[in-house]
Amino acid sequence: MGERRFIERASKRRVPIGQLLMDQSVVAGIGNIYRAEILFRARLNPYTPGNEVPLDVLHDIWADWVKLLNVGVEVGRMMTIDGLTGDEYQAALQDVRHRHWVYGRAGEPCRRCGTPISLAEMQNRKLYWCPSCQA
Ligand SMILES: [Zn+2]
Repeated sequence: MGERRFIERASKRRVPIGQLLMDQSVVAGIGNIYRAEILFRARLNPYTPGNEVPLDVLHDIWADWVKLLNVGVEVGRMMTIDGLTGDEYQAALQDVRHRHWVYGRAGEPCRRCGTPISLAEMQNRKLYWCPSCQA
């Protein structure tokens, strides 16, 4: 797949990683939901320039994306929270509001730390992140 190309290109650009993840010349098809969720899972500030993200973190981002895509195929939904069981898992299956860490949750408390989730526009797409977990 395009992992090597992604790491090569992302690691050379002084452009925010949140923007690079939506740049088709860097990586194709991540989309807005996975962008926000992958950056949260990596605890990475979306405004970090690509060339300041450690290579192993870029590698982890790619691996996490592949993992989430596989989960999505398996479950039939973009499920981006790990380890849900029982009622929590059923709620996430049934309702998108229980399915994500940060996406679509502007102003709501972070599921990990309680800080209100931030919302900004990046390249005309809504970007969600936790200003504390992803400082
Ligand atoms: Zn947080």
